[in-house]
Amino acid sequence: MAPVAGFGARLRNLFGTVRTIDEDTWDDLEAAMIGADFGPDITESMLADLREKVDRYSTTDPRDLQRMLREDVEERLAGFDPTLKLSDRPAVVLIVGVNGVGKTTTIGKFAKFVGNYGRSVVVGAADTFRAAAVEQVATWAERAGAAVVRPQHPGQDPASVAYQTVEYAQRTGTEIVLIDTAGRLHTKGGLMDELGKVKRVVEKLAPIAEVLLVLDATTGQNGVMQAQAFIESAGVTGLVVTKLDGSAKGGFVLRVQDETGIPIKLIGQGERIQDLTGFTPHVFAQGLVG
Ligand code: GDP
Repeated sequence: MAPVAGFGARLRNLFGTVRTIDEDTWDDLEAAMIGADFGPDITESMLADLREKVDRYSTTDPRDLQRMLREDVEERLAGFDPTLKLSDRPAVVLIVGVNGVGKTTTIGKFAKFVGNYGRSVVVGAADTFRAAAVEQVATWAERAGAAVVRPQHPGQDPASVAYQTVEYAQRTGTEIVLIDTAGRLHTKGGLMDELGKVKRVVEKLAPIAEVLLVLDATTGQNGVMQAQAFIESAGVTGLVVTKLDGSAKGGFVLRVQDETGIPIKLIGQGERIQDLTGFTPHVFAQGLVG
């Protein structure tokens, strides 16, 4: 079998070569799980569970082990609700995360994703500090067929752009509001204050349906640490994990839900506008384990 790439590469390539379950298999499986970023705790507890099951069914067939692992992964993922709450009119979604994780791209992809379901979308370019950020997000939004509310002058208060975006949606009957926010790490305190203000101001007009934190799968645990301020104080309701196409670290997905207690709602698997999907534990487990 030709080796596979992407987030399921490690486990799927392992199961492509194992002929019978023996001690080497367990060592290889442990190494593959650690390599795929399941983290030591999840790896240990899943391996103990799998050993017990393999003994109970007294099997030496690696296909049984692969199926058990796939079921265990799915069961762990299914402990969280991946449903996007977009039934408010308008449904206001804040997109947060540190720069470089794929926030801009995700906004364009998300506008396209909901647009495919016939929902109208407006994007608020509320990362007003950098003119380039405004233009980038506007380009992506327009490509997705979404309306855009831009700052009226450089450096306009992000909260006022967010407010105008929600106002636009209410005035025009636009169903979904996506608000881009700043992600400059070196101004952490200021960033959280800015985000708090955006939320307060928006909530004068409409409730906030979702606060989605974008995380880059290739940065693993480091990325989660960098995003800690958002997790602690931004009221995050869902995670978007990007760059799963370029990473063999699909275990990150299990780990990040367990560690943050926040459900993954969307996954990004490429740089094109159509490369964003809803998160489905069954499909993901199949992709990760084979
Ligand atoms: P931002 O700074 O967080 O707004 O990040 P951008 O949206 O500008 O993305 C940063 C880089 O990551 C760009 O080169 C994107 O094309 C790339 N990128 C974003 N999402 C994905 C993804 O799911 N897969 C891959 N391979 N690249 C991605």
